[in-house]
Amino acid sequence: MIKINEHYTEIGNNYLFAEIARRVREYKERNSDKKVISLGIGDITQAIVPEVIEAVHKATEEMSRAETVRGYAPDGGYDFLVNAIVKRDFLDRGIALEAGEIFVSDGAKSDTGNIGDILGHENQVAITDPAYPVYVDTNKMVGRSIELLPCTPENDFIPDFPKKTADVIYLCYPNNPTGTVLTKLQLKKWVDYALEHQSLILFDAAYEAFISQPDIPHSIFEIPGAKKVAIEFRSFSKTAGFTGMRAGYTIVPKELTAKTSKGETISLNAMWKRRQSTKFNGTAYIVQRGAAAIFTPEGQKQIRQVIDYYMGNARIIKNGLEALGLTTYGGVNAPYIWAKTPDNLTSWEFFDLLLNKVQVVGTPGSGFGSAGEGFFRFTAFGNKENTLEAVERIKTLFA
Ligand code: PLP
Repeated sequence: MIKINEHYTEIGNNYLFAEIARRVREYKERNSDKKVISLGIGDITQAIVPEVIEAVHKATEEMSRAETVRGYAPDGGYDFLVNAIVKRDFLDRGIALEAGEIFVSDGAKSDTGNIGDILGHENQVAITDPAYPVYVDTNKMVGRSIELLPCTPENDFIPDFPKKTADVIYLCYPNNPTGTVLTKLQLKKWVDYALEHQSLILFDAAYEAFISQPDIPHSIFEIPGAKKVAIEFRSFSKTAGFTGMRAGYTIVPKELTAKTSKGETISLNAMWKRRQSTKFNGTAYIVQRGAAAIFTPEGQKQIRQVIDYYMGNARIIKNGLEALGLTTYGGVNAPYIWAKTPDNLTSWEFFDLLLNKVQVVGTPGSGFGSAGEGFFRFTAFGNKENTLEAVERIKTLFA
């Protein structure tokens, strides 16, 4: 008889965005004449930049000839990409990493979800609330004990240390969904906590490219001692429009160790390498060539233009909502604006109001955790015309 992983019965069926999609679909079925604008799911709307497309075309050509065709990629990624990452994303920022500490992947969702493979189920886990749902769900899938760390206006969205000592801590900065950040000093406190308690920080830096202010760390490895306690996840999805192309990478420092139950010291880098080489067969050569093109001077210039475009949308949304008297957070170092709902509406009440009255879709904050109740997430990933129109439509609600 099949024995299932019973923990799956505890996480429910509905992924947040599936529920949003269902409500929007039903609305459209009833109102086929209405144009719905989505500032909801964090997906790109702008074309992938020419430098990347050119590299992809060239790589595709190589695949058409026996002399240059590529098969399985090397574990951890091709040198041309890994070396570009080591130099441009880290060395140029004063962080020295070895190529063997970088693991190219098909994106940060898989890696933030899969990292739990190398961690015992008995770990006590701390996760900020609200959060990107993958952290909570993947830990629930194996029955780990989770303490949620509320991030609200009351604590300036800076999580307090857990009441129960945490073995594993998830931090995501710039944050999805709140768009808030930690300064170096604030992040250092968490690194010091982890050093003191021998905990592991899983640092999701998927949105680092959107940071605009100084003193906001782009990488946790800017903090002294972090290589002993942290794994960092990066994604090309929002940085360079790779949500459909699929590429990211994870840094597992060689200094990072844990103890086995017998008290032996074990390298998490070696464990992750073992896990990936067993369960993952690499990111497509063509995609890795595309990703490497991001790091050329022209590639950097082109992706910066797209990021600036999205951050222009963030300003339109943030300024527009604030002019209406709504309180907003984020939107300065992140492509997300976290708005307090008006009149104490619940997140889903505000969702329904926006959809039914002005045909604007956002994401209910409560979908990211109970501390997100009463908040609403708008994304800057729309096109500018739609973003402007959405804000105009929202204004009519307050007229
Ligand atoms: N981490 C965070 C915080 C995200 O918001 C997302 C995507 O929305 C991801 C990871 C996943 O990124 P990827 O497309 O690289 O899987």
